[in-house]
Amino acid sequence: MGKLDGRVVLVTGAARGQGEQEARLFAAEGAKVVVADVLDEQGEALAKELGASYVHLDVGDEADWGAAVGAAKETYGRIDGLVNNAGILRFNSLVDTPLDEFMEVVRVNQVGCFLGIKTVAPVMEDGGTIVNTASYTAVTGMAAVGTYTATKHAILGLTRVAALELASRRIRVNAVCPGAVDTAMSNPARLDPDADPEEMTRALDELYRKLVPLGRIGRADEVARLALFLTSDDSSYITGQPFVIDGGWLAGVSVI
Ligand code: NAD
Repeated sequence: MGKLDGRVVLVTGAARGQGEQEARLFAAEGAKVVVADVLDEQGEALAKELGASYVHLDVGDEADWGAAVGAAKETYGRIDGLVNNAGILRFNSLVDTPLDEFMEVVRVNQVGCFLGIKTVAPVMEDGGTIVNTASYTAVTGMAAVGTYTATKHAILGLTRVAALELASRRIRVNAVCPGAVDTAMSNPARLDPDADPEEMTRALDELYRKLVPLGRIGRADEVARLALFLTSDDSSYITGQPFVIDGGWLAGVSVI
């Protein structure tokens, strides 16, 4: 018995990184997964490997959402779960951030999450689940990523309000708040086909050894396990909450 047997779950930004690990774990737990992304080649290959389906979905585009939900319903007849995972990061101080860059990040991270809730919740089965991907930066500040931080704070607001508004249909809405995770977002070198992934992970662990109490960077499959918990009945009495998964980073600072 899988934890998601018979459930249909759409994961955005699922072609790589945390979304990919969520798609893999959910499929292994019996879900019919809809892999959604703008990286069509990677997304299609993953869906084929998992026996899942793929849909092109730019999360900032309302028409794309309508088409994606239509395709999911046509293929599987229902939607039980949504993981709003797609996101982008830009580095800049607030005063140096061009408005276009601010709006680009808002469009994907914040509008994307809003449109996901708005489009999927009305057609989702009662008792469904929504997991929004916020961040450690949703619950604290981080210099040089102000736009990203603002959008991740906003995602917690969306999570809480959606939880209140959808509770009468037993739809639960929660947020994952990862610290640093070993994906292309935290480590763009991952996109270099000639780089050695194990060597990169070792270097990142070393970088985070002093920053993070557990002494290493997080792994994408660790976040996927949290998303599985929040998508399965194991979390049946939990809604409207942020779940920090950060190796203890937020716990405080050490002076020695
Ligand atoms: P990633 O860059 O590997 O994955 C992001 C995915 O989102 C990619 O597949 C990308 O193609 C997709 N995407 C980007 N724009 C999109 C759009 N407009 N429409 C649809 N898909 C789009 O990074 P990741 O770490 O796997 O990121 C997943 C989520 O986790 C993001 O929301 C990110 O903000 C969040 N997060 C990441 C970290 C980290 O350290 N890696 C920490 C906290 C939160």
